[in-house]
Amino acid sequence: MNIAANDPSLKTWVEIPENSDFSIQNLPFGIIKVNGGEPRAASRIGDFAIDLKALFVLGYLTNLPFRMEDFDTDTLNIMMKKGKEGTRKLRDRLSKLFQEGQDDLKNKEHHVNQVLIPIDGVQMLMPVQIGDYTDFYSSRDHATNVGTMFRDPANALLPNWLWIPVGYHGRASSVILSGQDIYRPKGQTKPGEDENPVVGASKLLDFELEMGFITYDGKPLGDTISTEEAEDYIFGMVLFNDWSARDIQKWEYIPLGPFLAKNFASSISPWIVTLDALEPFKIEGPEQEPEVLDYLKYSGKKRYDINLEVLIQPEGKEETSVSKSNFKFMYWNMVQQLAHHTVNGCNIRGGDLMGSGTISGPTPDSYGSMLELAWKGTKPVQLNDGSERKFIADNDTVIMRGHSSKEGVRVGFGEVSTKVLPTK
Ligand code: MN
Repeated sequence: MNIAANDPSLKTWVEIPENSDFSIQNLPFGIIKVNGGEPRAASRIGDFAIDLKALFVLGYLTNLPFRMEDFDTDTLNIMMKKGKEGTRKLRDRLSKLFQEGQDDLKNKEHHVNQVLIPIDGVQMLMPVQIGDYTDFYSSRDHATNVGTMFRDPANALLPNWLWIPVGYHGRASSVILSGQDIYRPKGQTKPGEDENPVVGASKLLDFELEMGFITYDGKPLGDTISTEEAEDYIFGMVLFNDWSARDIQKWEYIPLGPFLAKNFASSISPWIVTLDALEPFKIEGPEQEPEVLDYLKYSGKKRYDINLEVLIQPEGKEETSVSKSNFKFMYWNMVQQLAHHTVNGCNIRGGDLMGSGTISGPTPDSYGSMLELAWKGTKPVQLNDGSERKFIADNDTVIMRGHSSKEGVRVGFGEVSTKVLPTK
C-alpha cells in the first residue's frame, strides 16, 4: 500500500520538538476548542493543533470530498462518513501543505496564524461520539496471568481462548477523555469466603493498559466483515485505560461477565492516530496454534509495534514508570477481532470503540495491570517517592503513553491521564 503521507523522508517547515509524537508522518485527528469558541475538527503537528475548519474556509481543502460541516462540528463522526478513502485523501493533503518545499500555506503568515494554534491554548474534547464499546481479552500473557491467579495454573487459559477472540459488550456512556477525573467506584464485594457481601468503596481499583480502535460505518445488520476487508472499516487508534475494580469484579462476574466493576469509567487519549499512519509499523503476527478457523485466518502483517508505558503519579509527587509493554504482545489482532465481532451479522457503526484487552508482555515489568504487576497484592510496586502500591490509591494519577518509531520516524499518541478522586 502506498500512502503518500507516510513517506519517511518527509520533513515539515513547522518547527517541532525533537522526538515529538506528532511528526508530519502522524497527522492524527481530534476535536478542539479554543478560547471558549465553537468546537471544530483538527489535526496536530508538533506542538500545534491544525484547525481544519480554518483550512477549509481559507480554501486549502478544495477538491476533497468534504464540506465545511464536516469540520465545523463537535465530533469526527461526520467526517468519518467519507470512509477510508476520504480520510486518507485529507491526511495526504495535510501532509502536502505542511511538508518542506511546499510554500502555498507557509508563505502566507496571516493564514498560518489562523490555522496553527499553539497546543497550550487548546482544549481537547471527546473526538468521537461512541455508539457502542466492546472490550476484547486478546493478550495471551494477561489471560494466562489472570487464569493462574484466580483459577488453576495448570489450566490457566480457558478452553475457548485459543479459538475465539473473547470479548464482551462494555458501556459507551462512561468512556471519558484524558484529563477528566474519576471517583473511586462503590459497589458490592465479598470480604471473605464465609462472610456476607458488603457495599462500599472499591479497595482494589486498577488500570488496564489497552489500546482502542475506532470504526468507520460497517455493513447492514446480518452482513459480516472478513479479515480481508477489516482494515477498511478501522479509522484509527487511541490509548485506552479501561479502569477496573477487581474486588467488585471477583464477586459479580459469574456467570454473565464484567458489569459494574468495569462500566464506571474508561479513559481515552484525545488524538485518533489513523491506521494509515501506523501502517509502516506493522510486523509479523505470532504463530497461532491450534490453527484458527477459516473466518479468522488472515494474510500479511496485522500486528503493530507500538511501545507503551504506564506511570503512576501520586498527588504532588513525581511520576514513576511501573510498566513498559507493547501492542505487539497481542495474540488476536484487530482484523480478527472485527471479523469475529461480525461473524454473527452484528452491525458495526461509525464511532464504535473496540478495546484490545489488557496488554501484558511476557516479563513481569511488561504487565498491563496492577493486579499482575503486584501479583494479586503479594509483590507491592515501589514508587519513587518511597511509597508502595498494590492497587491505585486516592489522588493518584495514572498516565499511559505510546508511540511507534522506525527509521527516524516517530508516530505517537501523546497520553491518556486520569486522576482518581476519593469515592463520592
Ligand atoms: Mn478491559
